[in-house]
Amino acid sequence: MSLVQTDYDLANFNTLAVPSRAGHFLKIESQADLQTAVTYSRQNSLKVLVLGQGSNLVLGAELDVLVLKIELPGKRIESFNDNTALVELAAGENWHESVSWCLDQGLFGIENLALIPGTVGAAPVQNIGAYGVELSESLEKLEYFDLVTGELHQITNNQCQFEYRDSRFKKDLLDRAVITRIWLRLGKGDDEQEGNIQYPVLKSYLDEKGLSATPKNIFNAVCAIRQSRLPDPRRVPNVGSFFHNPVVPQTQYAELQQKFSGIPGYPQSGGSVKVPAAWLIEALGWKGKEQFGVKVSDHHALVLTNPNHCLADEILKMADAIQASVWKEFEIRLNIEPRVYPQC
Ligand code: FAD
Ligand code: NAP
Repeated sequence: MSLVQTDYDLANFNTLAVPSRAGHFLKIESQADLQTAVTYSRQNSLKVLVLGQGSNLVLGAELDVLVLKIELPGKRIESFNDNTALVELAAGENWHESVSWCLDQGLFGIENLALIPGTVGAAPVQNIGAYGVELSESLEKLEYFDLVTGELHQITNNQCQFEYRDSRFKKDLLDRAVITRIWLRLGKGDDEQEGNIQYPVLKSYLDEKGLSATPKNIFNAVCAIRQSRLPDPRRVPNVGSFFHNPVVPQTQYAELQQKFSGIPGYPQSGGSVKVPAAWLIEALGWKGKEQFGVKVSDHHALVLTNPNHCLADEILKMADAIQASVWKEFEIRLNIEPRVYPQC
């Protein structure tokens, strides 16, 4: 059974490499550890922060809370039918390794989500998505531990209230539910299958190499494209996209097109248009710029990097400067994607 440790260094537990210390820290390796968390947080009147691999968090310097580092292990194929399999993955498993393991079992459906950092347990929180695929398309159900009642619950996909980079784990179940396991419904027989290549960058990559759209080829293509475009957080601290792509009304998009030729836009259901935040930021000359010790990646304007291991305050100052500049030029408000903890 894990023991609570105090004044714990979190610098290596967040991919932005922000200096941060947890007042109280507990590794969660079993259900018994979750019961310890409930008792300890109640006895010491502490709030709880659930931590995976810290790849979508901007942490404050001193956290007077109980941090739960989720390390629950395990993966297995629970059942098969003619065309699909149900796969159970524990929350502490690494997401990318789980995608790769599923492909090795001849199961497909999540290959477009290769190389997304983080844990399985965090994946439903923001309904991870990339290259035209979202986790919610494969997730059948999940189990969570309720830190208020100390009970385990299973809920279905519908009950998770998945939306674009969103779920109820950011709303009513925030800091209350610890996701412990998920079940994915995946297709069988990956060699003959045609995967999702609706994103042009993926299709062009495969076309150029003369490869068919099998799940394994898609997996390899996604890995290669990501490695060429995104800084590796192990070498250059970052949390991936720092801002959401804004969605604007069609009328505003039409006005923007008049003023800024070439501005990209992707029509959404309901008549609105998604505008790539990276394009807005790059158009204003931010790509590669450094301020407050924080640098916009040379490769991707949506990625803020923290080469000098600055505090969260500096990173948020940089984010603020970018948001103000985008607002001034385009009258578009950019929202921060990673969770800022504690919220200012
Ligand atoms: P953490 O950062 O530790 O936590 C994130 C949030 O989830 C926190 O609020 C935390 O409290 C909560 N949480 C964590 N574990 C649990 C749990 N078991 N139960 C309940 N709540 C929990 N995201 C995408 O969607 N698509 C991408 O393509 C993508 N690319 C990225 C590329 C890079 C280089 C980086 C650094 C990040 C990228 N991300 C992307 C963001 C990030 O990888 C995902 O959000 C990931 O799911 C976070 O996992 P984590 O374990 O690091 O979570
Ligand atoms: P990209 O291919 O340069 O495209 C830029 C943006 O345009 C993307 O954010 C994407 O939106 C949107 N887009 C592109 N083609 C589209 C299409 N056919 N239909 C609808 N929208 C389209 O993207 P990128 O920045 O290199 O990222 C590639 C993928 O990985 C994207 O899906 C992105 O979300 C994901 N990613 C996420 C993070 C993160 O931290 N959240 C970090 C890196 C990459 P979407 O974002 O909605 O897909």
